[in-house]
Amino acid sequence: MSLTRSHHRATRVVIDTSAYRHNLERVRSLVPNAKVMAVIKADGYGHGMEVTADALVSADEFGVTDLDDVERLRQHGVDKPLNLLSSRFSAQELMTFSERNLRPVFYDFSQFGLLKELPSNANLDLWLKVDTGMGRLGLSVEDAHVIFDSLVDNPAVRSVSAMTHLANADNPNHPGNRRQLAQFAEFIEGHAFQDISLLNSAGTVAFSEHAYDFVRPGLMLYGISPQQNSSADQLALKPVMTFKSELISVKHLPAGSPIGYGSTYTLDTDSRIGVIAAGYGDGYPRHAPSGTPVLVNDLLVPLIGRVSMDLIAVELGELPAEVGDEVVLWGANNPIENIAEMADTISYELTCGITQRVERIII
Ligand SMILES: *Cc1c(COP(=O)(O)O)cnc(C)c1O
Repeated sequence: MSLTRSHHRATRVVIDTSAYRHNLERVRSLVPNAKVMAVIKADGYGHGMEVTADALVSADEFGVTDLDDVERLRQHGVDKPLNLLSSRFSAQELMTFSERNLRPVFYDFSQFGLLKELPSNANLDLWLKVDTGMGRLGLSVEDAHVIFDSLVDNPAVRSVSAMTHLANADNPNHPGNRRQLAQFAEFIEGHAFQDISLLNSAGTVAFSEHAYDFVRPGLMLYGISPQQNSSADQLALKPVMTFKSELISVKHLPAGSPIGYGSTYTLDTDSRIGVIAAGYGDGYPRHAPSGTPVLVNDLLVPLIGRVSMDLIAVELGELPAEVGDEVVLWGANNPIENIAEMADTISYELTCGITQRVERIII
């Protein structure tokens, strides 16, 4: 008996690198005059940061979280400009940013003190983030106006760019969007910013006329719809990730049989159930309720009973299926957006939640 296969479990994610390129082209067609800062934080939204960076080599720049991401990407040979979206750093680190092709986001007063410690040849390029209504990172518009003048006077600072983030772009009719767009437009007027950036994926879809210099898409590059009311298909996006497993048991059970922990579901009629080698230990959401679709041999069947750590059950009825058949937990023909909605979460959380033991196959 050989135990040389690295993964015996059939549960795996398949990463389709051609889908990344397709989705990047979609972004470019929506905002042809803007540069694209592809956001690949959180291990490329759970898809793998290095594979994402390789596939999106024609993006203009990357957006990452912090210096840990920078180390990984540079180690991998990525030399593109990297923008640090929510990072803390020291004055020593900041001094090296221009030669390392890094552009930090300044979002809190505590960061500006570091600028006094920089030598005048630091050549720092930075983003100034203003909070126009997200209520998270960023200076108030009033404070940012004041800081801007001191930044321009600082010889260590080579350029200042402006950024803000929309809180409700996934719901374009939300009145907060218009307020944020207007406040940002007013803020940037009258200052000589190097670059201006406002839109994430949802904003790029809904407000492409406000693309400015840089858009910052993440989710849509992975082929997932950023809009509450549109599918990836409708937006001509192709899912990069397919989460697959297989049937490891198929059996008949009589009407009235309880299924899974807590016996939360009982069969209405005599039926066939399939048991699949995937559970919350792989990143399938534990809160997916009975009825959540699973694709078995090209047909959607309902999840039944609670999600276990290693297993889920589906009702197969008369569907021809046997042990070893492949199932798609999400991906093409079983959109992740639907799974997320059923499980009362968002697609971002699902892709980020794929666990270590799941094999990743890159095609
Ligand atoms: C994560 C992030 C993005 C990308 O958001 P998506 O919704 O995935 O497109 C853009 N801008 C900032 C500042 C972010 O943190």
